[in-house]
Amino acid sequence: LTFSDLGLAEWVVKTCKELGMKRPTPVQQHCVPRILSGQDVMGLAQTGSGKTAAFALPILHRLAKDPYGVFALVVTPTRELAYQLAEQFRAFGSGLGLRVAVVVGGMDMINQAQALIQRPHVVITTPGRIKVLIEQNPEDIPAVFSKTKFLVLDEADRVLGVNFEAELRVIFQCLPKNRQTLLFSATMTSNLQTLLELSANKAYFYAA
Ligand code: AMP
Repeated sequence: LTFSDLGLAEWVVKTCKELGMKRPTPVQQHCVPRILSGQDVMGLAQTGSGKTAAFALPILHRLAKDPYGVFALVVTPTRELAYQLAEQFRAFGSGLGLRVAVVVGGMDMINQAQALIQRPHVVITTPGRIKVLIEQNPEDIPAVFSKTKFLVLDEADRVLGVNFEAELRVIFQCLPKNRQTLLFSATMTSNLQTLLELSANKAYFYAA
């Protein structure tokens, strides 16, 4: 199986080749066609399995056709992971003029709110920080996400802290109901089951 066989546009296939990705990994083979066709996906996959490309490539394929507004909101547990995700999105989207914003703790909130109001294509954030930004800017920030097409919960088992329902509820309320939800996690936990029920719609379930 090749990246073309998964239904990805020629420019995406070329980018993969340039980045030294010759063949899709199993998580990519299974999840990319489902994401392209509009399904919600829940994937159990470890770091190193190629899970980031499994969601980033189909998101960028779709974004290239319809670049309006904030297209994808990616929630991840730590700042370090947020920056790593941003780096991968920028590498995969280098031919697109992709605008990626990283919104995490330890940075100025006013600048972050302004960066969001500029409508970047992809927003990568940690759950605590986006919740505070939404609550402090209730007039402006929810509107930024009103046309978002994808919600990604990366390392979802770790995103789910003790207070996860409160944080995620604030985030979910900003997003349109018809968005696609993509959940990736290393392990299946009971919190994750709850989250799946809260957020996803007849998700395709992938486990390695
Ligand atoms: P991840 O599982 O997302 O943390 O990815 C681990 C690493 O594998 C990243 O550095 C990717 O660039 C790389 N990678 C992802 N997909 C492929 C592929 N199909 N072939 C070779 N390397 C890949």
